[in-house]
Amino acid sequence: MRMRNKPWALDYLKTHSNLADVEMTYAGNVSDFFEDNQDLHIEVGTGMGTFITTLAKNNPDINYLGIELDKNILIRVVEKILEEDLKNVKVALLNAADLKEYFNSDEVDRVYLNFSDPWPKNRHEKRRLTYRSFLSSYKDILKQDGELHFKTDNQGLFEYSLVSMNNFGMQFKEVNLNLHLNEPDDNIRTEYEAKFSSKGNLIRRLKASF
Ligand code: SAM
Repeated sequence: MRMRNKPWALDYLKTHSNLADVEMTYAGNVSDFFEDNQDLHIEVGTGMGTFITTLAKNNPDINYLGIELDKNILIRVVEKILEEDLKNVKVALLNAADLKEYFNSDEVDRVYLNFSDPWPKNRHEKRRLTYRSFLSSYKDILKQDGELHFKTDNQGLFEYSLVSMNNFGMQFKEVNLNLHLNEPDDNIRTEYEAKFSSKGNLIRRLKASF
């Protein structure tokens, strides 16, 4: 997802520093970002934020942090947080490659990956958010019983991710090849999920732990 560059994006995010961390201010002390000390779920590549803000509204007893490397997109998430006056969801301008610099070990209860960029060319394998270097970061920051939840419509990325996670020794708790057939009541459709599902693409989901 690429958004038109907004030269004022960083300034906008900085004026909402209670909602958006653009300078790694909370690296190493992310609990200080939130009002309440409670479980922490993060979404890596949060996009426009419908998923994470809806989860936050539905689950006030969980803290949510959306990780995104595009400052222009983060504006949309901050707008949603403000509209709904949500206290338990924040965003961080951060590359997933730097997750271990931001979070302490055993700090996160759940990692969500939704419709991550597929990077189909072999030479771009290392950029896929289910490549082993990223799995290693998730393993480090997740608590022992933490889970990774991953959704995509991209069959190639889904198959790749199953193999990558299996090779990493992960355990699968759910592998669903058609999530919208008998869609679970608690499924929250992301922006990409709504778009691809309306085109007839099957949505896959897996839940796994380390
Ligand atoms: N999760 C959203 C959804 O399902 O609608 C957005 C999906 S979009 C295809 C992927 C998002 O991941 C983009 O907003 C992109 O900027 C972000 N992204 C890609 N690589 C990233 C990385 N290494 N770290 C953080 N965000 C990343």
